[in-house]
Formats: sequence, C-alpha cells, structure tokens
Amino acid sequence: MEVKNSEVAFSEASKVIPGGVDSPVRAFKSVGGTPLFIEKGRGAYIYDIDGNSYVDFVQSWGPLIFGHCDKEIEEAVICAAKNGLSFGAPTLLETKLAGKIVELFDSIDKIRFVSSGTEAVMSAIRLARGYTNKDDIIKFEGCYHGHSDSLLVQAGSGAVTFGTPSSPGVPADFTQHTLLAKYNDLESVKRCFESSNNIACIIIEPIAGNMGLVPADEEFLVGLRELCDKNGALLIFDEVMSGFRASKSGAQGLTNVKPDLVTFGKVIGGGMPVGAFGGKEDIMDKLSPDGPVYQAGTLSGNPVAMSAGLASLEKILRDESFFEKLEERAKMLMEGFEETSRECSIPIQTNVRGSMFGFFFNEREVKNFDDALKSDTKLFAKFHQGMLKEGFYFACSQFETGFICEPINEIMIDACINAVKKTMSKI
Ligand SMILES: *Cc1c(COP(=O)(O)O)cnc(C)c1O
Repeated sequence: MEVKNSEVAFSEASKVIPGGVDSPVRAFKSVGGTPLFIEKGRGAYIYDIDGNSYVDFVQSWGPLIFGHCDKEIEEAVICAAKNGLSFGAPTLLETKLAGKIVELFDSIDKIRFVSSGTEAVMSAIRLARGYTNKDDIIKFEGCYHGHSDSLLVQAGSGAVTFGTPSSPGVPADFTQHTLLAKYNDLESVKRCFESSNNIACIIIEPIAGNMGLVPADEEFLVGLRELCDKNGALLIFDEVMSGFRASKSGAQGLTNVKPDLVTFGKVIGGGMPVGAFGGKEDIMDKLSPDGPVYQAGTLSGNPVAMSAGLASLEKILRDESFFEKLEERAKMLMEGFEETSRECSIPIQTNVRGSMFGFFFNEREVKNFDDALKSDTKLFAKFHQGMLKEGFYFACSQFETGFICEPINEIMIDACINAVKKTMSKI
C-alpha cells in the first residue's frame, strides 16, 4: 500500500499545525505510521490522497450514521446554505429539531443547542452546579466528556481521590471539585458521597465509548440514580456518542434509569458541528435568559448544522427497524472477530450496543478502565496496520469504539471478516 502523498502531507502539516493534526486522536501515535489524509468519502468508503480506499468504521468518530455524502443530508445542507450560513437570530429549524428530541426522550422537556460535545457537557455541569448550589462533581475513570478544564481528570487508580488534572495548563484548583470513581463500581461512588456533602452531579457515559466500548451494568445505573436522589445530586447522562447510536433514544432506550440532564453531540449534527444539552423543565429554566445560569454561543443552533441534524434524525425515525438492522451487522462483525480469534488463539473481548461495537485484545471481560488498560496495545497496533493494508479503516487506538453506518452491508462485513482472518493469522 502506497501512502507517499499522506507522508508528505503530514510532514507539511506538522510545520504549521501542532503534531500535524487538529485533534490528537487523529495522529496514529499508538499504532505507528502516518495518519492518512482523506480526499473524499462516498457511502461506506473513504479515499485517501494516494488513491487508496477503505471501508470506514470511524465515520468521523461517530456522527456519520448514514455514511458519507448521504443524498438527503447533502441536499438539506445545500438548501440551508443557500438561505444564508448564520443569522445569530432564531430560526424555525431549531424548534423543529428540539421538538423531535423532546418527543423521543422522556427525560427531556427542553433542550439547548451548542456547537460541540465539549461545550454541551461543560454547560450541563455548570447548570447542575447552579441548580443544586453545590460545587463537586463525580466522574468515572476512563469516561471522556470533552476537553474542558474540570473534566480533564481521569488518572489515579483504585482509591477515590480528588482528581489531579491530566494536562498541564489546568490549574489544580480547577479540578479539586472533580471526584473520581470507578466505572461499574457502586462502592467507589458511595465513598465519594461519604467524602463530600457538596456533590452537584454525577456525570457518566451510560455506555462508555471512550475507553473502548464498555456498557454500564443496569444495577450500577440504578444505584447511581438512588445515590443521586438520596443526596440531592443530579444524574447526567453524557450521550454525545451513544445518542442516536445505541438506539433511537440513545442509551436511555436500553435502561430503565432516567437521568436529570442529557448531553448530545456527534450524530445529532449529522456531520456538522452540533452539541446539545437538555432535561426537565425546572432545571432547564434556570438557564439564561429566564434563569441566572449563564450560557451562550454565537453560532449555536446554526441553520446549516441544524438542517444536517434534522435530515439525519428524520431518516433514522422513518425506519422502524433501523437500529436492529445496524445492530445485526455489528453483531455479525464481532462474531466474526470472536471466531477468528479462537482459531488463532488470540484472546479477545467484544461488545455491541446498537450501531456501536468494540473489541479488546484482552483475556478477561472489561468492566472498567483498569481492565481496559490490561489490553494488548502492541497486538492492536499490528492488527490496525494489517487491516489498513486490507482496506478497512478502524479507529487508531485500542480504546475507541467502532461504528456501523447504514451503507455498510453484509458483503462488506464478510469481506472484513476475511481480512481479519488474514491479518490475525499473521500477527
Ligand atoms: C466525543 C465526546 C465528547 C466531546 O465532544 P466534542 O464534539 O469532541 O467536543 C464528549 N463526551 C463524549 C461521551 C464523547 O464521546
């Protein structure tokens, strides 16, 4: 496989962009080699600037549930763009998209749009603090909630500690209110509540997708709900990834637990930059301009982005069995992985939730971040390189989730499983 053009492009980019990329996850650091520069996408495929094509299981890290250049979404975007790119004034599109989401989610009466997942979570946390008049928050090791200061904490295994920031540039003062707990471990959350009576909220990915795919146990979520109710804290589901990916009502479609606030991103923008946060009326009404909690955005609810999100959502809702269909394909793919890994004596753990799938090169079931870290990342790197040569583009880290989009059909999945056989027998 020839990637000369990408190599040159990367070296040129690295002169003017730090690390050559605008988001560190794109840099291929953990798998080696050069990030591929993409020229275009069509349906299930992306094409790099050397003319290689790949079946895309990354889909811009989740948003593109209909693949690349879906006709309906494309037309909605072009049509909106012709009426003007942005007004900084209300449009009908925002109400329409908000209305659809409110209809789909029992836990949401009102929703506000922003421009990224990071912004959505940051705003939801501020609102939770403003609503409860408390300062501390609980987050889980291995969960990612965007790159805002107080959420960039995850290190520190085992004991519950007040978080230390995992990036220079974040003052320790900013993260002293972030308590860390262990995913799927209710005792670690109880210890947080014992150590502080100032907890505003728990924030969780109800299906964790940023340490690889690790779903929360139902009893664990039930326990979180009870702890929040008992202690006057809010439960926030970060559904930036799982929203419109796990089911048409996100992770909430797969659990009986209802959160107080929900955050969205990725699929909600259909490939354009959109985030959102929503919840019950009495909480959301605390937001400016009706309430005292300030939050704002020049491009929030941008009409072109709203049109892409709306077109995606309408398309999802039109097909009753949409998520069953994608889940079937995800399961087929993961079963192929399992079977092949048995044949090659490579230990693997797989998970599927709706259109999301994940696999760990790991001997034991993965329930939390510590478990995930025991995976064989060297083996993953070899696997990743091998699959690229076969024309299959997976996320360039062991700790990411894979996605099925609608144009990925069973023929492609069969071909992928064959490539997995070829690759695994060599590594
Ligand atoms: C991607 C992601 C974010 C951050 O969203 P951005 O749009 O990248 O800022 C937050 N939370 C979760 C669960 C995510 O997967």
